[in-house]
Amino acid sequence: MSNVQEPSFRESVDLMFNRAVALMDLPPGLEEKIRVCNATYTVRFGVRLRGKIQTFTGYRSVHSEHMEPVKGGIRYSLGVNQNEVEALAALMTYKCALVEAPFGGSKGGLCIDPREYEEHELELITRRFAYELAKRDLIHPSQNVPAPDMGTGEREMAWIADQYARMNTTDINSKACVTGKPINAGGIQGRVEATGRGVQYALQEFFRHPQDVAKANLTGSLNGKRVVVQGLGNVGYHAAKFLSEEDGALITGIIERDGALVDAKGIDVEAVSRWIRDHGGVKGYPNAAYVEDGASVLEVECDILIPAALEGVINLSNANRVQAPLIIEAANGPVTAGADEILRDKGCVIIPDMYANAGGVTVSYFEWVKNLSHIRFGRMGRRQEEARHLLIVEELERLSKDKELGWTLSPDFKDKYLKGAGELELVRSGLEDTMRTAYQSMAEVWRSRDDVKDLRTAAYLVSIGRVASSYRAKGL
Ligand code: NAD
Repeated sequence: MSNVQEPSFRESVDLMFNRAVALMDLPPGLEEKIRVCNATYTVRFGVRLRGKIQTFTGYRSVHSEHMEPVKGGIRYSLGVNQNEVEALAALMTYKCALVEAPFGGSKGGLCIDPREYEEHELELITRRFAYELAKRDLIHPSQNVPAPDMGTGEREMAWIADQYARMNTTDINSKACVTGKPINAGGIQGRVEATGRGVQYALQEFFRHPQDVAKANLTGSLNGKRVVVQGLGNVGYHAAKFLSEEDGALITGIIERDGALVDAKGIDVEAVSRWIRDHGGVKGYPNAAYVEDGASVLEVECDILIPAALEGVINLSNANRVQAPLIIEAANGPVTAGADEILRDKGCVIIPDMYANAGGVTVSYFEWVKNLSHIRFGRMGRRQEEARHLLIVEELERLSKDKELGWTLSPDFKDKYLKGAGELELVRSGLEDTMRTAYQSMAEVWRSRDDVKDLRTAAYLVSIGRVASSYRAKGL
């Protein structure tokens, strides 16, 4: 990334946006209105820690309010800056439009390395950051609803929700001020796995369309495909786990901060994840070869590359050497605009971030709806559904006793058919439907328009078109 010609993350997003709007016929000025970030709030606040006051810098950026609330994660990382937060907020606008989650785009971040702090210190810092944002309505159930991102998770979201509730004691909808909370603090089943699960559903849908698979010079299904994953955090871990355990894919490479592991026979994701938890990195893991220069494993031969760590990792300095014919952007912005062009010219198919990692915001949407409706999904209908299924099963059982008909029920049919859907099943069903529908709307443009050469441009066309219609409907 030292290359001077490399555009910033924000510029990369704008370049990709511009490429798409050049193919659209938007009313004069609307393109600029959609592209710009509406507002970015910078806050500096002090927290007394270890005997002295430490000052922290945080951001919350609102890209587009064509729909409210606006939505987007809060990231804890030393790399956080205004440029990055604004690029991520813009991506959120397009992502929500693509998967039809009724939100505008936002993003937040705090410049901090969370690994340097004890849990109680992180709680003080998070609560103070949440206070600063909430008092300006930058955390609010109907205006701005954060979620987890890099360096944050359920724990931080629970602190934020509690801080908001303390400041708004009579707000009956206070839990809907943030998503990604633990179940016992108003969360929803399936949110932790959602983004990785969405990556799995995205790949499954891609492989349902042989004409699309052929464009990546691949054939067949996910079974046996060699997959390299960068970042075994929330998103990368779940994507790699589900793809290997449920779809038969082989995880042949895992890249982490301190190096990479490779094994052509496939790596046990669960075992590596445990190893990282216990040892702080992948180094020393006994059952795969260790590569010290982790980033070099982005360039090894494989079928599918899943960058799931951070932005800009595939850039002008390495894009030429990346061999994967299919890249799915589980992280936000892992491929720079320049690298995108190089890879496209090589015939590599890129399933873009705004679609690929939309599983998180999709299930966040379900969680927000759950919080506002104050009832768990499935609570009203589950037993009634089971009772109706029982009627059919009993009838079938009666018929199967008739020797003349000569058929019987499969052994596990009754149990499987009788089980009504609980919250987790409903969340997964809603997520799968969302990922499949969004893929089809994007791929339809990719296949039908000669001037659209890649899925990213197709995704931008669909989402910018939807944002534009929403502005037009408002009379703008
Ligand atoms: P996380 O903090 O849980 O995991 C990030 C992982 O990447 C960690 O294991 C970390 O050690 C590793 N990593 C960091 N720097 C690395 C490097 N230079 N090389 C290799 N590995 C490195 O974060 P996450 O929530 O999984 O988010 C990852 C990406 O997915 C981010 O781009 C984020 O914006 C995006 N995303 C996350 C969600 C979500 O629901 N969590 C939703 C949409 C998009």
